[in-house]
Amino acid sequence: MEAHVLGFPRMGRGRELKKALEGYWRGESSAATLLQCAETLREQNWRYQHDNGLSLITVGDFSLYDQMLDTACMLGMVPRRFGTVNGDIDLTTYFHMARGDAQRNIPAMKMTKWFDTNYHYLVPEFSEQTTIRLASRKLLDETHQALALGLRPKPVLIGPITFLSLSKQEDGVNRWDFLPQIVAVYCDIIKRLAPLCDWIQIDEPVLCTDMTLEAKAQAPATWQQLKQAAGSSQIMLATYFGRLDEAVPLIAASACDAVHLDVLRNESHLAEIIQHLPTTMMVSAGIIDGRNVWKNDLRRSTERLDPLRKMIGDERLMIGSTSSLLHVPVDLYQEQQLDPVIKSWLAFAAQKCREVALLAHLLDGEDHEALLRGSDRIQASRRTDSRVERPLVRQRVAQVNDAMLKRTPYALRRPQQAQWLHLPLLPTTTIGSYPQTRSIRLMRRRYHQGEVSEQVYRTFMQSEIHNTVSEQEALGLDVLVHGEPERNDMVEYFGQQMDGFCFTQHGWVQSYGSRCVKSPIIYGDVSRPRPITVEWIRYAQSLTDKPLKGMVTGPVTMLCWSFVRDDLPREVVCRQLALAVRDEVQDLEQAGIRLIQIDEAALREGMPLREDDAETYLRWAVNCFRLASSGVADTTQIHSHMCYSDFNAILPWVAAMDADVISIEASRSNMELLDGFRQLDYPNEIGPGIYDIHSPRVPEVTELVALIWRALEVVPKEKLWINPDCGLKTRQWPEVREALSNMVSAAHQVRQRLEREQPSCQMGD
Ligand code: GLN
Ligand code: ZN
Repeated sequence: MEAHVLGFPRMGRGRELKKALEGYWRGESSAATLLQCAETLREQNWRYQHDNGLSLITVGDFSLYDQMLDTACMLGMVPRRFGTVNGDIDLTTYFHMARGDAQRNIPAMKMTKWFDTNYHYLVPEFSEQTTIRLASRKLLDETHQALALGLRPKPVLIGPITFLSLSKQEDGVNRWDFLPQIVAVYCDIIKRLAPLCDWIQIDEPVLCTDMTLEAKAQAPATWQQLKQAAGSSQIMLATYFGRLDEAVPLIAASACDAVHLDVLRNESHLAEIIQHLPTTMMVSAGIIDGRNVWKNDLRRSTERLDPLRKMIGDERLMIGSTSSLLHVPVDLYQEQQLDPVIKSWLAFAAQKCREVALLAHLLDGEDHEALLRGSDRIQASRRTDSRVERPLVRQRVAQVNDAMLKRTPYALRRPQQAQWLHLPLLPTTTIGSYPQTRSIRLMRRRYHQGEVSEQVYRTFMQSEIHNTVSEQEALGLDVLVHGEPERNDMVEYFGQQMDGFCFTQHGWVQSYGSRCVKSPIIYGDVSRPRPITVEWIRYAQSLTDKPLKGMVTGPVTMLCWSFVRDDLPREVVCRQLALAVRDEVQDLEQAGIRLIQIDEAALREGMPLREDDAETYLRWAVNCFRLASSGVADTTQIHSHMCYSDFNAILPWVAAMDADVISIEASRSNMELLDGFRQLDYPNEIGPGIYDIHSPRVPEVTELVALIWRALEVVPKEKLWINPDCGLKTRQWPEVREALSNMVSAAHQVRQRLEREQPSCQMGD
């Protein structure tokens, strides 16, 4: 039985690729060094797959930056602004497309999230000038590299339908018009690959989303042509991340030799799917979870595969990971500091390769009762560990009732808050963090490594908070923050102080380009044993007469940016998190902090892939936010911050969160996002970010004034707050000072005009 994974992490177990890329970008190392590193990493990744017993190794999943960018390059699609390239696309142009060309001031291609993962891809651009031609031999070269090593390669390409669905086009251009030329290039490559390999994997994850009519109409004929080009080599249409639903007939008509599907996410429909597939089509069962870090329950997996085997027979079955392993860390065996029991529950990419291979052997009928019993023991250890199921947490979650999700109606809260806050029109504030200087990061590191005492650390952080508060007072901001110097990361910081979380040393996962994140792992019931932020915030408030916002990370964001246990529904884990955050919020209030911001940066990215599932998610996500935020008095003002601009579809849900004030990203879209707010008549207060903190550019006062007036076309002046787009931690103090000073001036200018223009004056005679 063939055993394979859909892709492997690229960074290397020591993040070698990151280091090589950044060295090259800084001009410290040559292109040859970078390419050498890439070649070594590819070989390492293949060895992981081969040595762990997979029968096919995946080739072409490796990328120096991103696989969508690689596909665009394969098709010769260099946007005009980067110049014309005739031969193969060189490394300089490739990285300009990915990262922009600062010298010539040419913006990079746009980047966005890859389906519902935290990986970001570059969005290919179609314009009138686009021409399609084969412009890269990468896949062929890598396939030859694998063959030379004596391996059995399975080249992978992003399918044309997914590629086009995720691209964008200039006005007046229909990107689907390019499909015939694109298919021609794919066929050209496939013809050259076919003699080299038994299988070619065509990734079409778009099949697990709500596809457009255009995509559906074009799909079967497109794949049929690819199959024809492949001749006797076999094509596997790979789907992942979700349910197939209405994509099944398209796949059935594809003429491809196999379909890969996520067994976990299609379980209830498997029989129906199989019934619709031609009896000659093989099924690659994605069963080892490519999105999570838990060791597979091998017995359960064999049981899950049983009905499938009965339906199609073993000859038609292949075993795989649910998706590429790009979304999990590389190798668990590097972890030296994890609790050994918890470590025994985990599997990273290398271990998952082994699991796929084991499962294929098990199904091949080899007697592995010992193996299954070993797996049973691990699962039992997880089930019975006293840190995993904690009765007190379960009890609290069970006792959550509707009243705990509700505050007094906003209209009644508002006057009570206004009465003590005495804020001017258009109050100014910031989102939470201030520049994280070298010395701040160094101090945190030294403290965590035990090199400095608690006392030294605390004194240092207090002086940072002191500075940040003074800076804000000098700038004339109306609502202050403490600046978050003690936090490395908004999720990790809170996770480290809650029960139920653990942290790896090397568990990095690529987010985009050379950027990686190391997500916490939620392995057990979550609770907050003691206050986390109270001392810092109380100290900050003691330094000023201005109101100061306490700052906590919300439950949905904690959930979305962690690896979550797979033995409880996400919704339940989120409730536990919400109760933990609620405790913190109430403690802040007790300590006299009466403005509290609960950040939900990730609320939107947690959205499921299919619209049908959105409502269920949004309902529990919003309820969790409400559970976290509703335990306070009417006089306490709850803020929330969300960092995205594409809001309109979920606006009613944002309103349902019922935060007194929300701040959102808006400046990059030139306040366009507010259009939705015009229609909905958003009931509470809102601060659309007017200063784009993603860029080092300092906005001018006039520009900011204009943005404020635009915002006022939609948001009544009594409800409008003035703030940047997001936290300032990645910026430098000089630019932050200047930008905030301009922001405050702009707010003052508009405020004065508004105060002069009494509505009665306009009524005339
Ligand atoms: N309060 C956080 C900060 O300012 C919010 C960060 C975020 O939205 N990603 O850094
Ligand atoms: Zn943000």
